[in-house]
Amino acid sequence: MDTRLIKVEDTAAIRDEELAGAAQILRNGGLVAFPTETVYGLGANALDETAARKIYAAKGRPSDNPLIAHISCMEELAPLVSEIPEAGRRLAEAYWPGPLTMVFRKSAIVPYGTTGGLDTVAVRMPSDPVANRLIRLSGVPIAAPSANTSGRPSPTTAQHVWEDMNGKIEMIVDGGPVGIGVESTIVDVSGTIPTLLRPGAVTVEMLEATVGHIEIDPAIQGPSGEDFHPKAPGMKYRHYAPKAELTLVEGEIDSVVARINLLVEEKNAQKCRVGVICTDETKSRYHGALVRSVGLREKEETIAHNLFAVLREFDELQADVIYSESFPEDHLGQAIMNRLTKAAGYHVIRV
Ligand code: AMP
Ligand code: MG
Repeated sequence: MDTRLIKVEDTAAIRDEELAGAAQILRNGGLVAFPTETVYGLGANALDETAARKIYAAKGRPSDNPLIAHISCMEELAPLVSEIPEAGRRLAEAYWPGPLTMVFRKSAIVPYGTTGGLDTVAVRMPSDPVANRLIRLSGVPIAAPSANTSGRPSPTTAQHVWEDMNGKIEMIVDGGPVGIGVESTIVDVSGTIPTLLRPGAVTVEMLEATVGHIEIDPAIQGPSGEDFHPKAPGMKYRHYAPKAELTLVEGEIDSVVARINLLVEEKNAQKCRVGVICTDETKSRYHGALVRSVGLREKEETIAHNLFAVLREFDELQADVIYSESFPEDHLGQAIMNRLTKAAGYHVIRV
């Protein structure tokens, strides 16, 4: 299949004509990748099981890993869900449109092919102007997981999408690099107490400011043993993984730098290509490795923004092993460390 790449010239003044072709493909059951404020999404009609199945095929995604349905305005929520609980209503008012996904009990029109066989449906209203306009023009809710090959780092530019999806989907809409860089926060509001299933840019503090105490799904911390049955099926799969073996080094920053430099020396002696993930503050302190900064320790949003691109860059550089600094877990740091520890397969050295 020939994949068409179109570019939205000015995302502040989108013309309907620019996105008409993309909307048409979606309405006809095809696949279109498009930017959102979190990462690039791979879209299909969420109400069309055959279209949703194409997403799983293009990504190589296990079919029990459910998709998030994207809507463009509040009126589009009710038809997808059997009820809107009070917590869901309040969180929608506070954070939609934005990087928050909520899990509701589904209505009959949402096919099991979209929800991975679950009786619940995850819904998000993105704030990105291209995403919003495209969903509205297509006239249907759009199922859209991240537009990467399953298991690879999520795409934050149209170029990343091209690397993974060229030849597999009808169209890629380039709206420039995304803003946030990590996937949406997911909160299950279908039970009695709202439960965090995935940390993102809408932080626990922000959620609790709106609905009071929330539960944190234990699976967020990682596999805890044999009976690991996460509520969000996606949690059980390896994610975001670079091709190299990635290890996090955690502790006071001077000790971390010293330990990573030692590990680099050891691996160099074994003739490995070694990568280091650090920040602008510490970049000049590493020697003998491929060193990449993810941003500023002081500004965690810069780290979220660059993380997946840096992981992809190490694939290109053909690193064999990567050592990464760790980052504070407050606010957006929780989402950053969640993605990094998953990418590392929970391999962490504490110093
Ligand atoms: P992605 O769009 O690739 O970032 O992944 C979407 C993730 O949303 C899945 O891997 C699940 O963890 C989560 N999700 C989607 N639908 C549901 C649902 N009905 N219940 C729980 N989690 C869900
Ligand atoms: Mg994903």
